[in-house]
Amino acid sequence: MHDNNEILVLPGDGIGAEVVPVAVEVMKQVAKRFGVAVSFSEALVGGVAIDQTGSPLPEETLTKALSARALLLGAVGGPAWDELPTLERPERGLLGLRSGLSLFANLRPALLFAPLAEASSLKPELVAGLDILIVRELTGGIYFGEPRGVEMRNNERCGFNTYVYAEHEIERIARVAFELAQKRGHRLCSVDKANVLEVTQLWREVVTSVAPDYPDVALSHMYVDNAGMQLVREPKQFDVMVTGNMFGDILSDVAAMLTGSLGMLPSASLAADGRGLYEPVHGTAPDIAGQDKANPLATILSVAMMFRYSLDAPDAADAIEQAVDRVLESGFRTGDIVGRGILAGQTLIGTRAMGEQVLAQIDQLESAS
Ligand code: NAD
Repeated sequence: MHDNNEILVLPGDGIGAEVVPVAVEVMKQVAKRFGVAVSFSEALVGGVAIDQTGSPLPEETLTKALSARALLLGAVGGPAWDELPTLERPERGLLGLRSGLSLFANLRPALLFAPLAEASSLKPELVAGLDILIVRELTGGIYFGEPRGVEMRNNERCGFNTYVYAEHEIERIARVAFELAQKRGHRLCSVDKANVLEVTQLWREVVTSVAPDYPDVALSHMYVDNAGMQLVREPKQFDVMVTGNMFGDILSDVAAMLTGSLGMLPSASLAADGRGLYEPVHGTAPDIAGQDKANPLATILSVAMMFRYSLDAPDAADAIEQAVDRVLESGFRTGDIVGRGILAGQTLIGTRAMGEQVLAQIDQLESAS
């Protein structure tokens, strides 16, 4: 357990301001139950920060973020700020936090709660019980490599980017993935394109070279095109997958959709010392913002990840996930996870009511233990 469990709460824009307070309530109750000392402060990021301070990431927010153990973020952006130049947009706030805190490991679980198996686009038997963790390198690779740009060559415009990884960048993300595999199913699949790209030949070499330090993890390698196919053909063959920034961007969205709804997907971005930024995968959903319709479960499940990865409290994380499972089992659904319509035994509820159901289930877990 850490001395400084300061949690910085960043609701952001749109439905972020609705789902984050619900998740904070869940966090407070679970922290109390499991004796995890946490304190909270709040700050501005994204569009709301632009409106109030002129910057998507005010100095004060970054300072607070740098001293926090973990950050809980809603989402940023929306039509009100769409016309701003790229460097002034709400998303810059998020990118600034990622780089300011050196959050190089992005964890995207694709976990299908059994009561939602029908909501997947794949056959229920292919996805029931699905539990994959994709570990994506977040601060390097082709998204950041130099040189980059568009320039005139032979009388026409040429666009170019650089796909580059240094050994230390590959090694540190590989170690994160191996350690996660040790805590889960002990299988790690590294995804590359080593048949074509030298940079990923190095990736494969470095990942293989650290494997002996984790003898209890079975390492395999897969080309990214095959990995895409296997994710939709037989997704349950995977436990932990590790890959670079661009392949991870694509594969994590493919894996996410196996589970049905954006409203269910949490994520974590970790620094080397275990500090982290936790946020739902979804955006600000302007189409339903302010209507108490947003599904808060992705944010609540992000809090579970925070307990697991930044607060050393895996029991608290398990309790939240179990409570969510029971709420779904009891038939409660927000609009995004009703599938083809409300079935017998199901009840359509809003953001706040969903939070109350999770709190009630946590109460029941408490009295059962
Ligand atoms: P979105 O994720 O906000 O919404 C896509 C669709 O999914 C919408 O129909 C929305 O109603 C629904 N949805 C999303 N989350 C939901 C939830 N929790 N419960 C119920 N339904 C949910 O993506 P978008 O529409 O492409 O983007 C909207 C804004 O959000 C844009 O400004 C975009 O830049 C921003 N965005 C921010 C982030 C982030 O902060 N990490 C991520 C993606 C998009």
